[in-house]
Amino acid sequence: MPQAAGRTRGAAARSGPIRHCPGASHPMPLHYRTIPVTPFEQNASLVWCEATREAAVIDPGGDLPRLLVAVDGLGLELTQIWLTHAHIDHAGGAGELARTRDLPIVGPQRGDQYWIETLPQQSRMFGFPAAEPFTPTRWLEDGDEVGVGECSLQVRHCPGHTAGHVVFHSQQAQRCFVGDVLFAGSIGRTDLHGGDFDTLIASITQRLWPMGDETVFIPGHGPESTFGRERRFNPFLQGS
Ligand SMILES: [Zn+2]
Repeated sequence: MPQAAGRTRGAAARSGPIRHCPGASHPMPLHYRTIPVTPFEQNASLVWCEATREAAVIDPGGDLPRLLVAVDGLGLELTQIWLTHAHIDHAGGAGELARTRDLPIVGPQRGDQYWIETLPQQSRMFGFPAAEPFTPTRWLEDGDEVGVGECSLQVRHCPGHTAGHVVFHSQQAQRCFVGDVLFAGSIGRTDLHGGDFDTLIASITQRLWPMGDETVFIPGHGPESTFGRERRFNPFLQGS
């Protein structure tokens, strides 16, 4: 369940550029590729460490064969599943992928227990393949860290779209995977269970903006943008 008005659709698969860490003599090891999945065109992202080729998939909502073809094509070893939140288009494939590949599920925060328990109903309601139930191997909390290979990302708890929504931030790469908290030109919807508009705006302004205007964010739907651009032009956030 994506976002409020102004939804942007039709994003093609994108890949993160190889960038050089300021002041460092070696390329940044964190890479990613975003692959839209499910009828909601949810942006699943493969995140990997260039040094070890170990990868995590963020929000495998469905279309698992497509994701696994990308994993194999990039020569990666998929070792983890990370979830921003447990709406069906983000978490619908997590249970099956964890079972068939023997992978841990990391996240979201416990506030999303309701959405995990109702995945079967969500599948029926939105015409998705039946989602396999799961219990996260590890719940996440604000300030936690997740790691893949030699790369680590910081976890921020950003409730408002769902109560247990988290984002994954790489300060070194200046990238943040924000799920359905924020979109280019829009914000996540707040009319579903556990949603709250003021809480969402506080999550964005107090937990995302301090990551810096230059930070590129990868939303759960639609194209990438920067926090600075959204602060200036997003109609929900202008002047924030
Ligand atoms: Zn959602």
